[in-house]
This record gives sequence, structure tokens and C-alpha cells, in this order.
Amino acid sequence: MADKQLMERAEQALYKVYNRFPVVFDHGEGVKLYDTEGNEYLDFGAGIAVMALGYGDEEYTKAVEEQLHKLTHISNLFYNQPSIEAGEKLLQVSHMDKVFFTNSGTEAIEGALKIAKRYHYNKLHETMGDGCDGCEDAEPDMTGEIIAMNHSFHGRSLGALSVTGNAHYQEPFKPLIPGIRFADFNDLDSVKKLINSKTCAVIMETIQGEGGIYPATEEFIKGVRALCDEHDLLLILDEIQCGMGRSGEMFAWQHYGVKPDVMTVAKALGNGLPIGAFLAWGKAASAMVPGDHGTTYGGNPLVTAGASAVLDIFEKRRITEHVKEIGAYLYEKLEELSKELDCIRAHRGMGLIQGLEFSVPAGPIVSKALLEQKLVLISAGTNIIRFVPPLVIEKADVDEMMKRLRAAAAE
Ligand SMILES: *Cc1c(COP(=O)(O)O)cnc(C)c1O
Repeated sequence: MADKQLMERAEQALYKVYNRFPVVFDHGEGVKLYDTEGNEYLDFGAGIAVMALGYGDEEYTKAVEEQLHKLTHISNLFYNQPSIEAGEKLLQVSHMDKVFFTNSGTEAIEGALKIAKRYHYNKLHETMGDGCDGCEDAEPDMTGEIIAMNHSFHGRSLGALSVTGNAHYQEPFKPLIPGIRFADFNDLDSVKKLINSKTCAVIMETIQGEGGIYPATEEFIKGVRALCDEHDLLLILDEIQCGMGRSGEMFAWQHYGVKPDVMTVAKALGNGLPIGAFLAWGKAASAMVPGDHGTTYGGNPLVTAGASAVLDIFEKRRITEHVKEIGAYLYEKLEELSKELDCIRAHRGMGLIQGLEFSVPAGPIVSKALLEQKLVLISAGTNIIRFVPPLVIEKADVDEMMKRLRAAAAE
């Protein structure tokens, strides 16, 4: 079959760092995907929480198409209108002061880490005073330490990997950047214990995604915010997966009444176009100066036209309201299932980022759902199935998903 041939060619040509499922997807429509053999799938993975508006949204496609014909790239040596508009819209919904567009999530994390390091550097230089005697020969240890969380995921580039609390991902690539200490998510004392005079930032996901869909507790996130205020540390919240409406608020931190100094977004921001961003406000927004950071493609007019359309559509169609409603419905249904099946150990999450933890490996269920039930799900860790569908799903899609999930999990 054509499919087999394509898959073999992929294994020949593409660098082998993934174990892919034996499906070649061809096109999508709404919340449905179609493979090259014409099979229809219900998508509850959204390309890993990316395709917020589903596939082939008309308004989005039109906006991107218009820009595609007009201008796709000019570098950041010049201004372009779509990036300004997308930037302003993103600042408006996030209540941040400044935004920098990147090409991916991991690059957004790199930028956030650089803000933290720069902020620490500025602070040390301020306390030493300008042109202080002996500064050059007696340079103090400038290592700004960053506190990150166990079981976190922030990306695969070396800086982001350094703050990713997963020994398996880190081990072959050591040494990573120095000065990173790991605390336990939702354990405030473990954070408190790691703070010292070199600490400059705390980085965490508001809802841990890859780690297994663990939302921060209110006590924890408020406690970390208070510690950061007390010790003049930057709080960096990674909203790459849980942000952009997925939790039921535009950004998950908006559920808790805290505000990060720096935050990162990506995934759903471009609805499939590669774009991320780091945003900052107040003291963090001015820590870096011209020359400190840059990117060739980042924020180019094509991807920012896409992000701009996404932000418009979110507002016009009240996507967060819809997520609250459908998310509550999904929660209810998954809650029912977890009472029904002994092999489900826990159910966590909010909005349209939820997870079921099984007492058995989730891989076979995900695989069976895909190949036999034509239901796209993704796992998180070994035992967890995560539900991160397009944000535009309806109750009928949830019902259909539950039917197929039940069939796949039955045994
Ligand atoms: C996906 C993800 C990243 C990395 O994004 P990439 O675009 O894959 O580089 C970082 N943080 C979180 C929370 C993510 O879910």
C-alpha cells in the first residue's frame, strides 16, 4: 500500500528520534482528521494542544492566505504590521507590557531564561555600582540560580532542557546550564528550601502537561508568588500548553489571582503555524536591551497574521466561555468513566486540558483507540492519557469520544 511505502521512506530519510504510529494523515476538517486511505478520525490531541480552532477554519485560513500572497518574511531589521497587531492583541489579553515572538515553545523558554539571567546580572551590577574599582579582575560569581520543578517539561533546546525536571531527557546531554535546582511541584517548602542569595527566578508550568496534567494548587502558586516578591525573584510561568484558552481562562494563571513576571506561550497561538512568544511586564520587561536577543524568522508577518487571526477569533467566538462549558461536560463524563473502571487511578485537569491516570500503561489504549476506534489521543508519561482536543469541540464530540474510549479501554 501507498502508506507502507511512505512510512518506509520516512524511516529512511527522517532522523530517528520518534516512534511514530503507523498512520499517514492527509487532511483535516473541523475536529476530524483523514488519513491517506480515507479513514476518518476524531481528534482529541489537536497536534499536541496546537490546533485550537480545529482544521480548515475558514476565517483563519483566509487571513493566513491573504498574508501569504502579500509578504511572508522580511526579518526583524524592519517593522511589519501583522507582528505589531498580534503583539498588541496578545498584550491586551495577558496584561503584560512587552512581547517577543519566537518560532517555538522551547525558544520562548530560552528567552524567558535570558530575562532571568539578565535581571540578575543587572541587579549585581547595580549593587556594585558603575565602573567600580576592581570589578574587572574580581568579577563575582554571576551565576543566577533558577528554581525549576521535578516532572516539568519546557522543551528540548539546551536551556529549556536544563530546566526540564526529567532525568531521562537530560542525562545524555549533560553538562547543561549550571545553577538549576529542582523543587517538587505543589510543595511550597521544597521551593523555599532552595532559595539563596543567588536565586533569580522560579520557572514552572501553571498546569504541568507532559508530566501528567497536574494543575498547580492555589496555595502553591500563591505561595511561590509571595516568595518571589519577598526575595525579588522573577516568576516565570510556562503557559505553552495550558495557555491560550485551554484551561477555560485565556491563561491558566488567571484562575488563581496571581500574575507572573514573565510568561511563555506557543502551541495554540498560531493554530498550527510555528510561533511562540515570551511576555513580560514591569521590571522584567526592561531587563534586556537592544543587542541582547534576536531571531531571524520570529514574528514574521505570515505567522503573526495567523496569531492575530487566532486572537480575533477567540474574542469573537468567546472561545474561553465555550471551553468552560465543554470542559465541564468532559470533566463530568471522564469522572463517570473513572468510577466505572478500576484501572483508572485518578482524573485531573480543567477546561480542555484533562488527564486520566491508569494503573496500567496507557500506550496500548492510545494505540488501540487510534488504530481500531479511529480516535486520536495522546499519552503523558507512561500511565496517563491526556485530553487536549481542539477548543471548538462540541458535546456530541465528547459523547463520541467517550464511546470510542470505552471500547478501546475495555479489557
Ligand atoms: C510543548 C511544550 C514546550 C516546548 O514547545 P516546543 O514548541 O515543542 O519547543 C514547552 N513547555 C511546555 C509546557 C510544553 O507543553
